[in-house]
Amino acid sequence: MSSLLNTDPTIFKLIEKEAERQEFGIELIASENYTSKAVMEAMGSVLTNKYSEGYVGKRYYGGNEVIDEVEQLAIDRCKELFGCEHVNVQPLSGSPANAAVYLALLQPGDKVLGLKLDHGGHLSHGHPVNFSGILYNFVQYEVEKESGRIDMEKVREVALREKPKMILAGFSAYSRNLDWKRFKEIADEVGAITMADISHVAGLIAGKAIDSPVPYFDVVTTTTHKTLRGPRGAVIMCKAPFAKAIDRGLFPGMQGGPHDHINAAKATAFLEALRPDFQVYAKNVIKNAQAMAGELMRLGYKIISGGTDNHLMVVDMTSKGVSGKEAEVVLEKIGISTSRSTIPFDTRKPMDPSGVRLGTAAITTRGFDEADSVQVASIIDRAVVSKGDETVLAALREEITALCRKHPLYA
Ligand SMILES: *Cc1c(COP(=O)(O)O)cnc(C)c1O
Repeated sequence: MSSLLNTDPTIFKLIEKEAERQEFGIELIASENYTSKAVMEAMGSVLTNKYSEGYVGKRYYGGNEVIDEVEQLAIDRCKELFGCEHVNVQPLSGSPANAAVYLALLQPGDKVLGLKLDHGGHLSHGHPVNFSGILYNFVQYEVEKESGRIDMEKVREVALREKPKMILAGFSAYSRNLDWKRFKEIADEVGAITMADISHVAGLIAGKAIDSPVPYFDVVTTTTHKTLRGPRGAVIMCKAPFAKAIDRGLFPGMQGGPHDHINAAKATAFLEALRPDFQVYAKNVIKNAQAMAGELMRLGYKIISGGTDNHLMVVDMTSKGVSGKEAEVVLEKIGISTSRSTIPFDTRKPMDPSGVRLGTAAITTRGFDEADSVQVASIIDRAVVSKGDETVLAALREEITALCRKHPLYA
């Protein structure tokens, strides 16, 4: 990056500093991952110079012969990876992708069923401060207090009572598999459109480690930068009859020109996810999450729903006498990144909730195995119960540095 160093040494140094933080820190934020250098090279390319409003073969700008090939490749690879009938690869990120779907298939005020935010849902699934909750009439379903799981019979009850135009299944903080087939049956019973948002688990689905909603659902959105390990961005997949409306919803409905450098990087990430080693990765992500959750439970932590089927877990810190924020802060001190999280039926405030959300997508990319994940759980515990003791924290910081050296990030 010698040009950047010459032109803007300040930004250059900040990027170096961030690279150092990533190299010697343990990344447990469930929505994060490390892309390959190949993906980053596609992103940092001349494709960023192009305008290409429209779609392959139907652009509003000239000079798009190459861009058409790039976008078509991203489309073809995404179709192969997920087995979808149609895909739009242009969404800039997850929230705009969801916005485009709502715009395409709903009228303002239409009723949609979505999982409540503090029960594991996402802002764009109808939270009152988000455009989704402002423009559409979201009715939220919840997890059960005892089990921490979604009870499909309760979802059916809500659906029968509310008769929504759309049923949305998907989450940002739920550690169990969703029963896609059952969601579809319930939607059919009330004549609702089915939409899945697989942003968190797309990589596990692509890696054939968990079930896919694509065979059942009308529309499936996903970000490309979480377990899928691509650039920041998103795609919208759908059944053929929805293709035209979805494409129009995204452009010209929601966005202007696509980010062609990002779409190229999506194509590269799909290629990587099509390789057999990505299936091994996806399975290892889950094994590591289960090892980490198992050790934390052994150490007396409560995991919401009692474990995990995917890459993430929400840990209730109450039994250790600390809040989610306090845990996040002490872990940050020793180089572990996490995100505080509400737990279902939380009595604490969202800025200082009871839980912490952990995920294993990033550490698995750098080669952590189950033993390493158990060690990370042990480090977390020792930090949380340390009461901020500087000697303990310094020793833990060293243990983490050693773990990171064992698994270099961009070796
Ligand atoms: C992360 C996430 C999104 C939003 O993604 P952004 O790219 O941050 O806008 C949407 N839905 C779900 C379920 C997510 O987890």
